[in-house]
Amino acid sequence: MADPAHSAHPCSLVWLRRDLRLDDHAALAHAAARSERVVLAFVLDPVLLRGPRMGAPIVQFFFDSLAELRKQLRELGSDLALLEGDFSTELVRLAKHVDARAVFFNGDYDPAMAERDAGVIAALRDAGLETHAYADHVYVRAEDVVQASGKPYTVYTPYRKRWNARIAEKPRAPYPSRDGLAAKLMSAARIGPTLAVPKPEAYGHASSDRYPRGGSAEAQRLLDAFIADDANAYLDRRNLPAVEGTSRLSPHLRAGTIGIRTCMSAALDARARRSSTYAGNIDGWIGELTWRDFYQQLLVHFPRVAYEPFIENAKDIAWRSDERAWEAWANGTTGYPIVDAAMIQLNETGWMHNRLRMIVASFLTKHLLIDYHDGERYFEQHLADADLGANNGGWQWSASTGTDAAPYFRVFNPTLQSEKFDPRGAFIRRMIPALAKVPDAYIHSPSTMPPIVAAECGVAIGQSYPAPIVEHAFARERALAVFARALKKRM
Ligand code: FAD
Repeated sequence: MADPAHSAHPCSLVWLRRDLRLDDHAALAHAAARSERVVLAFVLDPVLLRGPRMGAPIVQFFFDSLAELRKQLRELGSDLALLEGDFSTELVRLAKHVDARAVFFNGDYDPAMAERDAGVIAALRDAGLETHAYADHVYVRAEDVVQASGKPYTVYTPYRKRWNARIAEKPRAPYPSRDGLAAKLMSAARIGPTLAVPKPEAYGHASSDRYPRGGSAEAQRLLDAFIADDANAYLDRRNLPAVEGTSRLSPHLRAGTIGIRTCMSAALDARARRSSTYAGNIDGWIGELTWRDFYQQLLVHFPRVAYEPFIENAKDIAWRSDERAWEAWANGTTGYPIVDAAMIQLNETGWMHNRLRMIVASFLTKHLLIDYHDGERYFEQHLADADLGANNGGWQWSASTGTDAAPYFRVFNPTLQSEKFDPRGAFIRRMIPALAKVPDAYIHSPSTMPPIVAAECGVAIGQSYPAPIVEHAFARERALAVFARALKKRM
């Protein structure tokens, strides 16, 4: 795979970030093609790891994945250079130690990370190192799907049409696998001693064996299982939190333990081989990967969405400050079982089903009228897949403040959502043992149980399970009034 015209560097660093794998890796493939030897490095940033944008599940996921990556590199006779501290200082020090002349890395569309990278790149260049950046974490780069006029898309459906046309013209194959790269890896002996992979506790986070498991072997297992089986009924099952109807790949796509091209090519291959039913279902799944790219490109074209609503007038929404309501939402004690079960899933497992993310986000922003920024931050701290693009996009969609968002008058009725998507209450019962014996007829609104039924199933409303903190009809009317006041100029 070496290109003699470009095989200029005796040694290069590959600076890993959200791409913790050896296969289908843009920066690694390019570095290997242009260098005699490569060293893979990851820099632990204590400020980021202890900061408000990181929670235990994602830290644990990254550390698990780094440990697995190190194991794979050691099996190939190399090692992961694990560093800690200031990015440029550490990378320059390592470059000197292994005599590297260039640093290859995959870029990040998160505006804060892009700004940080600009500073690191300048410092690396000042130290005499070449830098090479690639777009790796999206399937189609932001600048490659724009309108004929060159303007970015702000609505999903035309974006997807153009995205589909683009991939039909030029599907992107995965970059080479680790087998082709092995000969390029610098030996462990030459890299020398490096840091051990820490435990999350070292940065103030508590580990849990209920959080998603990291590593590229687990990612490949999930992809294979999904493509072989669950994808076939994706459209029917993807909205049901009680079943495993989705791929569960989101933390892996976030940490880059699997390449997006690997996922897409598995989907496209299966689509070509299998039935028309399967094709319809896998198209539904590809549509979700397109949403992922869509929200990523918004960060590039409208970086302000990271900090403020996409719709200008939405800055005028009169959000409420209500500590009691906030605590009830965050702790899963609102008295709406589907909302509570969802928040318990998040708090205990570091992941939440997509339908539930929409329900709890709507509940926080519409029923409780609490600013979506607070919910977005809470998710960031509790999700193993916390990702600025998808998280901000999901919150702004739910809060009706985003591009192509749910209209503000669409206020999910949590009880109806629960009846529709968890009809027998299987998910609710699993997450809230106190409601396990509630009859199906009352599982979505236990506070309406006659006292005799409540006594029979051992539920004391207000004691073993809370009464609803807000009444739906009242909350809906209040939300409509408050949102209309801010957004009406636009309607
Ligand atoms: P699948 O259904 O198997 O989908 C495959 C992949 O497509 C996912 O792994 C994910 O990478 C991507 N995807 C799916 N749905 C969306 C979507 N709506 N927007 C963007 N990408 C999508 N997803 C995150 O990855 N990180 C987040 O921080 C995040 N926060 C969200 C917050 C809110 C309020 C909402 C409504 C959605 C959020 N999502 C987020 C999107 C979605 O809920 C998750 O991606 C999905 O639940 C992950 O499960 P899965 O991997 O089984 O998905």
